[in-house]
Amino acid sequence: MKKGKVYLVGAGPGDPGLLTTKARDILARADVIVYDRLIARRILQELPKHIVKIYVGKRSGTNSIPGQDAIPRILISNAEKGKLVVRLKGGDPFLFGRGGEEIQRLREAGVDFEVVPGITSALAVPAYAGIPVTHRKFASSVAIVTGHDDPQKSEKVDWKKLATAVDTIVILMGVDNLQSIMKSLVEGGCNIETPVAIIERGTTKRQRVTVGTIRNITAQAVERRIMPPAVIVVGDVVNLQKELSWFKS
Ligand code: SAH
Repeated sequence: MKKGKVYLVGAGPGDPGLLTTKARDILARADVIVYDRLIARRILQELPKHIVKIYVGKRSGTNSIPGQDAIPRILISNAEKGKLVVRLKGGDPFLFGRGGEEIQRLREAGVDFEVVPGITSALAVPAYAGIPVTHRKFASSVAIVTGHDDPQKSEKVDWKKLATAVDTIVILMGVDNLQSIMKSLVEGGCNIETPVAIIERGTTKRQRVTVGTIRNITAQAVERRIMPPAVIVVGDVVNLQKELSWFKS
């Protein structure tokens, strides 16, 4: 029997044009595609009908369906049947995508795998908003962090240290804890007038950019009803947005 294989593939941040050619080639050859939320619908629609497409993303308001633990089992069982399986994830599969965990499970099961990196929202979404995350004048360092853990409750990300350690902070999954993140950054020594941008649904037709400062961004987010998925950028590079904004959504 043909030996199966799993490709862990990054789909890019939304704009289907940001899929790599390697990812595109592998998708076209796939037998089974196991995909998450935040995958551009057009990427899947354009694929041959015979490919089995399995959705394993979260439905809003509930936990994983069919459950994070079940995903490796789906990958393994299909690979063991000799299938070419694509595990398709938004952005880059190794950046806050649990890609590492899924690959560990494949290795334990003795399943062959390959990783195809993707264009991450952490860099591409600011770029589509006209924000270079570094700039020789304004920023020589950048950190990408998750805002998923409420800083007032847990300290997985050391916000207070981060506040003065890097020039640009890019926060994914941070909308729900925005207020508390901003508070921790100020407590850590960030100037309250530091510019902040929030980019919702970046690289898509529905991209929306909100610019403010640490002081006023939370109020703006409420007023404008800012919703995930969004990338938050904190740092002086945000000021370049006025001059460098180019993407017409
Ligand atoms: N592996 C992904 C990130 C997964 S975490 C990557 O490399 O891009 C999911 C988070 O990514 C979202 O909560 C949001 O913060 C960010 N994100 C992904 N796609 C986005 C988009 N099109 N616009 C804004 N934020 C996005």
